[in-house]
Amino acid sequence: MKFNTKTIHGGQHDVDPAYGSVMPPIYQTSTYAQSTPGGHKGYEYSRSGNPTRAALERAFASIENGKHGLAFASGLAAIDAVIKLLKPGDEVISTNDLYGGTYRLFTKVFEQFGVKFHFIGMENAANVEKYVNDNTRLIWVETPTNPMMNIIDIKACAAVARKHDLLLAVDNTFATPYLQQPLDLGADIVMHSATKYLGGHSDVVMGALVVNDDNLAEKLYFIQNASGAVCGPQDSFLVLRGLKTLHVRMQRHCENGKAIAEYLLDHPKIEKVYWPGFESHPNHVIARDQMRDFGGMISFVTKGNNYDEAVRIVENLKIFTLAESLGGVESLAGHPASMTHASIPKEEREKTGVVDALIRLSVGIEDVKDLIEDLEQAIG
Ligand SMILES: *Cc1c(COP(=O)(O)O)cnc(C)c1O
Repeated sequence: MKFNTKTIHGGQHDVDPAYGSVMPPIYQTSTYAQSTPGGHKGYEYSRSGNPTRAALERAFASIENGKHGLAFASGLAAIDAVIKLLKPGDEVISTNDLYGGTYRLFTKVFEQFGVKFHFIGMENAANVEKYVNDNTRLIWVETPTNPMMNIIDIKACAAVARKHDLLLAVDNTFATPYLQQPLDLGADIVMHSATKYLGGHSDVVMGALVVNDDNLAEKLYFIQNASGAVCGPQDSFLVLRGLKTLHVRMQRHCENGKAIAEYLLDHPKIEKVYWPGFESHPNHVIARDQMRDFGGMISFVTKGNNYDEAVRIVENLKIFTLAESLGGVESLAGHPASMTHASIPKEEREKTGVVDALIRLSVGIEDVKDLIEDLEQAIG
């Protein structure tokens, strides 16, 4: 089955043997009647399993070309489950330009339990191997990164992981399986904040993991059930509904993203535009090789790097909504220095490129002429 068919049908057959409903029913139930102790029809309790969630988990597996999918209450709950595979003394090599919540989970929660994290620049994959030692268990990759749109070579990281018998996990939230399928590139675990593009409508918070290995799936399922950060049936239904249009939404996100990146690049008041589709992007060649297109996430800096001017621009936008998050059908704009990265000292955030005037756009699927007109009036 091709990707554009999988988003609609993948893993979703035989959901309703009762009445043949075309859409998977929302099994809004915590428990299931048993005919005799242990005599059930595959489901006992909805933390352990729920038919609506199971349909979604099969769909996640299908679109990521994996065997096993797991759905969680949030993206961070999915990441939490992965790190719970480890034990005190184990080490993780992670991207340094990492989603803030992931960084917080690693440093403020799991470091307390004796897991050690190395946050490094991975744009040069050779750098990764330098940090491998006897305690290393996991490489954690996010690509493209947030908000600097760095690209990390998944295949090169997979080669390091194979050589040293490590797990490779890839946060595929920004790219989605429409643009890149990390399991096919050698990753062991692919993770999503389904809150973003997979859900696609900014109406649900959810996370996902997909793996191929049966043994790894069993361990993660054990943690999912034992820790209990599962998503409910209503949210599962919403994300199943979102997935059905993932491919058409992503196609438009990419088209609009390209038009806006090019518009910004030509703008006399713009200093720099971060978008992996430009040949001048330092990792453009890797992006071109591992991604089908370049997505709708763009960051840019205005000339003079003025904090107040950047705030004024995001406040003046009318169609772009000033908000955290990304990946919905509607366009969003954010100012990392005062929003997502406000808690990081200025010198620290500027080291990774998050300067005062950096603005991040999640380009939606509206008419691109309206979006450009909106940027034009706001930038002035
Ligand atoms: C949002 C996000 C997360 C966290 O997901 P939640 O659903 O908010 O818990 C993790 N990684 C990336 C890249 C994200 O954008």
